Amino acid sequence: MPGFEPTVTDDTPAPPSAPLPESESRDFRCGECSATMTWDPDAGALACAFCGGTEAVDSGERVIVEYALDDVGSAARGLGLEMRASRCDNCGATVAFDEAATAQLCVFCGSSSVLEQEARRNAIRPESLVPLDVGRADVEKAFRKWTRGLWFRPNALKRLERFDAVGVYLPFWTFDCGVRSDWTAQAGYHYWESETYWEDGKMKSRQVQKTRWEFAAGARDDAFDDLLVLASTGVDAGLVARLGGFNTNGLVAYRPEYLAGWAAEEYRVDLQEAWGQGQERVVAIQEGRCSGDVPGDTQRVLLVRNRIRDVRWKHVLLPLWSLTYELGGETYPVLVNGQNGRVVGKAPVSWVKILLLVLVIAALIAGGVRVSRYA
Ligand SMILES: [Zn+2]
Ligand SMILES: [Zn+2]
Repeated sequence: MPGFEPTVTDDTPAPPSAPLPESESRDFRCGECSATMTWDPDAGALACAFCGGTEAVDSGERVIVEYALDDVGSAARGLGLEMRASRCDNCGATVAFDEAATAQLCVFCGSSSVLEQEARRNAIRPESLVPLDVGRADVEKAFRKWTRGLWFRPNALKRLERFDAVGVYLPFWTFDCGVRSDWTAQAGYHYWESETYWEDGKMKSRQVQKTRWEFAAGARDDAFDDLLVLASTGVDAGLVARLGGFNTNGLVAYRPEYLAGWAAEEYRVDLQEAWGQGQERVVAIQEGRCSGDVPGDTQRVLLVRNRIRDVRWKHVLLPLWSLTYELGGETYPVLVNGQNGRVVGKAPVSWVKILLLVLVIAALIAGGVRVSRYA
């Protein structure tokens, strides 16, 4: 693909549409007392921790732009506010922190081998984000409920005192595209035939299912909107998948205000690699759709040829809370969806509890058998 090269040097001219060039990095000061303000998920506004003053964030003034695949140069750069970054030696995640926040431990894996470094200034700026909407108190409540719901987990987990979740924006790429899929296949139609056979010296007949194969072909047009590809290396992709969908209707134009006081992971999967993954998903989805279009009762040798067009991309941030807890020398990650509060996490299994349950079930079955025998 000519001209498709996500690494761009700093001398790329800023497009006229970019509202906040990288040079305008700033922090947010309270109008009342000039203390630093941070984004408050509960208030849905910037809030001052010192005097309690709040300030609305203007979310409606800018259109969210989706870029053509060969147009990387016109995307704005940097996050638009002063941030430090820490890179984790263990999981490889680089997380940018607002000056107001701290990072002694990796927010994703809990490792203490984090090195402070410059936030990447020429990284593509997020085009939009879903503002962090679930506050710390609600996250803790959801987490406690989650631990209570773990049937087979050790009691130590339920007693877990420490709660040090970090609100962090996770990097994603989204893709829109159109796709035309032409397919051919052999469609199978079942029918029944009677068949005679010999049994005990007598001729008998029975019905046997056969399949008639016919050539079939078709075409379909589909559109993809906001296909999300995770650009993080810090989180467990399986956990993120279990977090369930983020509602991309909640996306607003990016403003650095939403990151004030919070962390944001820098993308590690670049645009080209992400589109590779996006394309694989499009191809797999189209194959399933075409398979559904093949007539008949069964099918074989489905061949699909996809022509993908009008690819548009944008870089987005989606909010979550990340925490880790330690148990028996192991660290386990837990994620909370920052849009709807859903909790997913890894937890150790308590073999003692499982063994007890198995014994109880065995006893019940044995008891049940005895009861039915005498019934
Ligand atoms: Zn104030
Ligand atoms: Zn880490």
